[in-house]
Amino acid sequence: MSDATEPDDDVVLYETRDAVAIVTMHRPQYRNAQNARMTYALEAAFTRAVQDDAVKVIVLAGSGPHFSAGHDIGTPGRDIHRSFPRVATSWYEHEGRELAEATFVREQELYLGMCRRWRDLPKPTIAMVQGACVAGGLMLAWACDLIVAADDAFFADPVVKMGIPGVEYFAHPFAMSPRMAKEMLFLGEKLDAARAYAIGMVNRVVPRDALEAETLAVAERIAKMPRFGLALAKKAVNQAEDRMGLRDAMDAAYGLHHLAHAHNALSSPDHLAGQDAKSMAKSLK
Ligand code: ZN
Repeated sequence: MSDATEPDDDVVLYETRDAVAIVTMHRPQYRNAQNARMTYALEAAFTRAVQDDAVKVIVLAGSGPHFSAGHDIGTPGRDIHRSFPRVATSWYEHEGRELAEATFVREQELYLGMCRRWRDLPKPTIAMVQGACVAGGLMLAWACDLIVAADDAFFADPVVKMGIPGVEYFAHPFAMSPRMAKEMLFLGEKLDAARAYAIGMVNRVVPRDALEAETLAVAERIAKMPRFGLALAKKAVNQAEDRMGLRDAMDAAYGLHHLAHAHNALSSPDHLAGQDAKSMAKSLK
């Protein structure tokens, strides 16, 4: 069921400022928890920005005090059993499927598949992060090329509490050192912006009230570079990351992730081990 207070078209906002497209997650009342409607709207917005010749750089933002609290695991607009019209696709519909197949197919398309497509968009992307950037929020920030963080931003992947070995887009040992990745996963605690910068996970930390201006200033400087040069530079780095093992590591981790979902579904009330947004938020330190 979708939430009657949320019209269909406003969970993602889209605007352009000169050569910069700003794509904004817009469910601030739910800390921008990502339901499927938002994920498909993000896909449509990114596609629009890629197809618009006037756009050179894409900024991904979140409305309100938080970037994103993660995937929607408990708002009235939660819609995990629904499919939506697609811009692109690599998997069949999950709607109407059951058990492990439903979860595997849905997350392959909606989480891993889309984050990979967004990571490989042929235009530079910048995540502009304030407040919470948790679990599914982390995936979106990592799929972007640069991350500019406000000094109040924090990053966490607490899903080991659900018995799950990290979010679907398993970039942890590439976004930071393997040892830090283990700390993030084992403790499930918040990594503040200063520490995220110290370990090289974010590019800049700026005062909260300067976040938008600083991010747009970086975007505008990038936009002065030639379009094709930017696309090739991005591809060169992404290819290098894939040859370092990113893509294979993610595929391997995705199998473990779904072993955990299946184990949870067999041993607890649901594939999330009975956890919900409240229980997860309560334990986040
Ligand atoms: Zn999952």
